[in-house]
Amino acid sequence: MTAPTVPVQTAFLAELRAALPDLRLLADEIDRESYRRDETAYLEPPLPIAVALPTQTAEVAAIIRLAAAHRVPIVPRGAGTGLSGGAAAVAGGLTVAFTRMSRVLEIDRESLVVVTQPGVINADLKKAVAAQGLFYAPDPASYETCTIGGNLGTNAGGLCCVKYGVTRDSVVGLEVVTADGSIVRLGGRTVKDVAGYGLIPLIVGSQGTLAIVTEATLRLRPTPPPTATLIAFFPSLDAAGHAVSAIAAAGVEPCTLEFMDRTTIRAVDDAHNLGLDRDAAAMLMIESDLPGGAATTALETAATACDEAGATATLIAADPQEADWLRQARRMAFHAMERLGVARMEDVGVPRGRVPELLATIERIAAEQGLVIATFGHVGDGNLHPNIILGRDDPDGEAKLNRATDALYRAAIALGGTVTAEHGIGLARRDYLELQRGPGAMAMMRAIKTALDPLGILNPGKVLAEA
Ligand SMILES: Cc1cc2nc3c(=O)[nH]c(=O)nc-3n(C[C@H](O)[C@H](O)[C@H](O)COP(=O)(O)OP(=O)(O)OC[C@H]3O[C@@H](n4cnc5c(N)ncnc54)[C@H](O)[C@@H]3O)c2cc1C
Repeated sequence: MTAPTVPVQTAFLAELRAALPDLRLLADEIDRESYRRDETAYLEPPLPIAVALPTQTAEVAAIIRLAAAHRVPIVPRGAGTGLSGGAAAVAGGLTVAFTRMSRVLEIDRESLVVVTQPGVINADLKKAVAAQGLFYAPDPASYETCTIGGNLGTNAGGLCCVKYGVTRDSVVGLEVVTADGSIVRLGGRTVKDVAGYGLIPLIVGSQGTLAIVTEATLRLRPTPPPTATLIAFFPSLDAAGHAVSAIAAAGVEPCTLEFMDRTTIRAVDDAHNLGLDRDAAAMLMIESDLPGGAATTALETAATACDEAGATATLIAADPQEADWLRQARRMAFHAMERLGVARMEDVGVPRGRVPELLATIERIAAEQGLVIATFGHVGDGNLHPNIILGRDDPDGEAKLNRATDALYRAAIALGGTVTAEHGIGLARRDYLELQRGPGAMAMMRAIKTALDPLGILNPGKVLAEA
């Protein structure tokens, strides 16, 4: 859609203020600036025309109805920690930030679900349900800052997806506001429900391009036992890759299976002084939350698999506090990376058996482009985050980076994988969607977008390029 003209923007904002006098609306340039980007600092989006901070669904519906009437684009936003440009502002658009819709509405112990507003921080939701002996599984590494709405927008993954699945697997019900401002309820509290088309899986992960989520009903579990943690160091990437397959082949089902390469190990160790083996080429962190002695048995089996794959050392964390430090260090790996230079986190995924080939390809790309690429990630899901590190004053940095990401995406697709396993297409990877999905799937996606958002006002240009 073409951006609305300045007079249209002015009329829209005036009507919005008149219709919703209690709505917090930020229009100062300095405020708008802080909502311009998400964590993709390399993108250059425009300023939003204003930022709305609704507190209830009825306000969201009224905003969308007026936006549709004036053809003003809407960008839904959680905490802005996204790594694909999904929450980046669009030209002439209103950003709607959900941070004030931050109430956990109900914890239903009998049905094992929690009903929540979208602006709740993931860690706060976990804490609220943990106080009742319950567990909300999805845990992106950013869980202390990102929101449930953003997690639903991106279908976020995280450290324990390898056992508990991604965000989508925990959603049983949604309340959404559609592109014409209608409020629609999808699903409910039922774990099994196959009535009609699966609209929840369609909306979750659509990055605010098909509907706006105003409430979610999420699946809970009883709190699992405390995790036991094993770390293993390897002399080569290949050995670590083979250990991952060997752990699966040995029948171990960890709740976390994370990978770090040498550059990441050193950066994390520099930042947190954990005494990691700085000469190792790779490290795996394997956790089990099985009850009783079963976790220890699982980790012993995993340690044997690592030894057979060539591990130089395997260590079981001495106590839960040591395990917590290790997990926290892994969660902070991206920030450790940022100390090395300008870091751009990528997010490719391949079938698990092809992880060794992906690791070898990443090494080759780094050598060819003369770049440092530090890789860590959720290797148990075949999902790696190669972090391309640029010197702060490298004049060819941008060109090298573009060549490296192009080679990386093409390699992931050639290995039968994906250009994004959990961060989303957003703006950053849009040019590669058709290469991965093909024209047939693209036509279906465009038809869905047109059917659900005929005016194209919902987060235009994200996921799909505008026609
Ligand atoms: C250090 C770090 C570690 C990270 N680790 C992980 C990880 O392990 N796994 C992972 O998956 N991601 C990870 N991320 C990426 C990011 O945290 C996730 O994508 C997260 O889900 C974004 O949540 P947010 O609240 O910041 O959403 P935002 O960035 O604000 O928005 C994300 C997307 O959701 C849409 N959206 C937001 N709210 C709504 C709504 N109410 N209705 C519809 N659409 C909406 C937005 O338009 C946007 O497209 C990490 C990021 C950082 C910086």
